[in-house]
Amino acid sequence: MAAIEEQILKTQEFIEMEDRYAAHNYKPLDVVIERAQGVWVYDVEGVQYLDCLAAYSAVNQGHCHPRILDTLVEQAHKVTLTSRAFRNDQLPMLCQELHELTGMDMVLLMNSGAEAVETAIKAARRWGYRNKGIPDNSAEIVVCAGNFHGRTVTIVSFSSEASYRSGFGPLTPGFRIIPFGDAQALREAITANTCAFLVEPIQGEAGIILPPDGYLREAANLCKQNRVLFMLDEIQSGFGRTGKMFAYMYEGIQPDVLILGKALSGGFYPVSAVLAAEEILGVFQPGDHGSTFGGNPLACAVARTALRVLQEEKLSERSAELGKYLLEELRALRSPIVKEIRGRGLWIGVELSVKARPYCEELKNLGVLCKETHDTVIRIAPPLVITREEIDWALVRIRKVLR
Ligand SMILES: *Cc1c(COP(=O)(O)O)cnc(C)c1O
Repeated sequence: MAAIEEQILKTQEFIEMEDRYAAHNYKPLDVVIERAQGVWVYDVEGVQYLDCLAAYSAVNQGHCHPRILDTLVEQAHKVTLTSRAFRNDQLPMLCQELHELTGMDMVLLMNSGAEAVETAIKAARRWGYRNKGIPDNSAEIVVCAGNFHGRTVTIVSFSSEASYRSGFGPLTPGFRIIPFGDAQALREAITANTCAFLVEPIQGEAGIILPPDGYLREAANLCKQNRVLFMLDEIQSGFGRTGKMFAYMYEGIQPDVLILGKALSGGFYPVSAVLAAEEILGVFQPGDHGSTFGGNPLACAVARTALRVLQEEKLSERSAELGKYLLEELRALRSPIVKEIRGRGLWIGVELSVKARPYCEELKNLGVLCKETHDTVIRIAPPLVITREEIDWALVRIRKVLR
């Protein structure tokens, strides 16, 4: 008994320390994680949990994947940071491999997802002025209501979420917000000054919102007809999460600009990228844009192995197959508080008719880690290395909580 009390204090002490010294810009569940392996994480008491969030899809390859870990350690012994003042031997290899994976001409490497989105915005605007002849300082980018693209001042300027924007003005102009999934609204929003349409193929933070079938294809066609760049933010939807390597592959289309992050590094290191045609990324000349850490050899080596793991372990196929199974099992669960269950691949939103937070806390107490999004949605997005048996283990607990 005494030992248990002392251990409970341990978690409590970390929580109190964090609440005292760390800014309160998150409201985490009260589990203090100390280590992790694959789909499992362990708290400071040694209690085991199944991770059903996967760090917002940054650890699709599973926590502490041994091969990525080996690469991280090996590369850290060689060289970690050169800055782009010099070249390194890992950056060209990663860029070529991303080209081979996607068919996109060129790659610009950054660190966080938000930085990659900012980079795409800069490229689109300059492309609009130089290649489309848009009058100076009047380029417009069309975005969707409910979007999530990151947290910089410019990105929150076009968020439709009041709390993301409030008090952070003056905000950046040049964005037009239209409803998500509505091709007619896009047609009407495009003007001669529109340089780009920026969209997530499936809105993750908004609660796993799938657009109507054919929407992305129609949007891509509208963009092509009007010389507007079709920019896909696949930071969360990419790398197998939806059951294909990238979500756009469901509609047989090709974006003009592809924005990547999160699982690009398997969760070891912040690595993001913007992929586009030479005509678009070519707007950057030496000195026009950059990042001290962007494209560093440690990041590139880690990302190369993270990509190889996704392909060799066939994690997209696994996501498609097990995602279908999980979705069916969840739909079979009859619960008076479940309004809708939707998703693609191992990326599922369970929309409740009540607040989701207490259910996430209850799941945590049973050993399943989920996080609510937008108050009423439980997002289920485990690492893609999860097995059917582990899904069944989680389902027992999810059924118990939701019934
Ligand atoms: C997470 C995310 C971002 C921002 O990435 P950060 O690395 O947190 O800056 C942008 N877009 C989407 C769709 C995301 O899910």
